[in-house]
Amino acid sequence: MTELQIELISVGDEILLGHTLDTNFHWIANQLANSGYRLRWHSTIGDNESDMRHQFRRAWNRADVVIITGGLGPTHDDKTRPVLAQFFEDELVTRLDLAKRIEDKFAARGLKVPFDSQKMAEFPSRAEPILNKEGSAPGIHYCEDNRDLFSLPGVPVEMQEMVTNYILPKLNEIQKGVFHYHIFRTAGIFESGLNELIGSPELLKPVELAYLPSIDKGVTLRLSVSGEDEEKTKSILAERADQVRNLISDFIFTESEDSLAEVILEKMRKHNLKLAVAESCTGGLLSNNFVCVPGSSDVFERGFTTYSNESKIELLGVEASTIEKHGAVSGQVASAMAEGALECAGVDIAVSVTGIAGPTGGTEEKPVGHIFFGIADKKGTYTESHRFDGNRTTNRRRSVLTALTLLWRRLKEQ
Ligand code: ATP
Ligand code: MG
Repeated sequence: MTELQIELISVGDEILLGHTLDTNFHWIANQLANSGYRLRWHSTIGDNESDMRHQFRRAWNRADVVIITGGLGPTHDDKTRPVLAQFFEDELVTRLDLAKRIEDKFAARGLKVPFDSQKMAEFPSRAEPILNKEGSAPGIHYCEDNRDLFSLPGVPVEMQEMVTNYILPKLNEIQKGVFHYHIFRTAGIFESGLNELIGSPELLKPVELAYLPSIDKGVTLRLSVSGEDEEKTKSILAERADQVRNLISDFIFTESEDSLAEVILEKMRKHNLKLAVAESCTGGLLSNNFVCVPGSSDVFERGFTTYSNESKIELLGVEASTIEKHGAVSGQVASAMAEGALECAGVDIAVSVTGIAGPTGGTEEKPVGHIFFGIADKKGTYTESHRFDGNRTTNRRRSVLTALTLLWRRLKEQ
């Protein structure tokens, strides 16, 4: 099966000026990848007719599918439609059916169309309109010379609706074949460690293996395969997934899209356990990870943000002498914070974090990035320390992922 060559062009001065982040590109690339297509080229151009013509020509010459976003609206800076019609040596004709759709849409909200609806309904004569369910400007679909060009509005919700309900089904018609993928989300291991366990990607052929590391989510592994036969493709993927699972099972926290916090909450909910968190350098970030998950209240009891020494003493009952003797950033204080949170909150398990996030505050003995973690439950208290080499933000984010990983491991032992 030959791979479709897909090109995306983002149109808009506001993107080139840095005022708008090109999230359309990111979203479309991701949707295509999840459906088994790969974007081959992407470019951004301004609202400039000659640049548009040049770029449309280049894309049409080399790609099987061209997707354009932006510049379809009714204002004078929206030039994609006339430039496209000119490019295809086509003409714009007033489509009363499209004008009526726009009028009806506004009328349903008790409004008059704030622009000339007939002008907006001037549509290339040889193209197919892509109905806009979220806004006014219809998308444009040219299918000529065995190639397809889709021009979509720049407004994210409008273009997203058209990609999901129009373009992806069309691509499936154009390219017969199937695509499947499987993910493993891992914690407590680097990409290189996984790579060592799994070995050469050649062993997994025809299945492709991708390592997707993230500072907040750990390393995700994605196995993907395309083929012609549904059953055969699925079965080879399942076989290779078994192979990988056997090699890295200790590190897999889920084979779904769930986050580590979601997996932890689910497990604790099942065992009817309550959680508290005591944070110093992460200042609430760890608690936030749990609270972000809907329904976390039946597990997450409370979070203590104890940044100062006084708050560690007052809220968690850490002994002043422990801080004095070992320093606020120490295994002893991490341990006392976790035990204090366990007792004060009356929960089943508590996690603590204390460390030097940076950029200042480091010493030779305890440099920036040195973070201590504590976990307390009925079996006792466990501490661990890590040294990260990032900046303040990344050190804090890594601390959150590490605390989650330690908690997940502790729960696995239950
Ligand atoms: P409209 O009818 O609103 O004029 P349009 O198709 O002409 O739609 P644009 O004028 O190019 O679209 O963009 C409208 C708005 O959509 C922009 O102000 C911007 O906020 C957003 N937008 C456009 N392109 C992108 C992009 N590539 N990524 C993210 N947002 C975008
Ligand atoms: Mg516009």
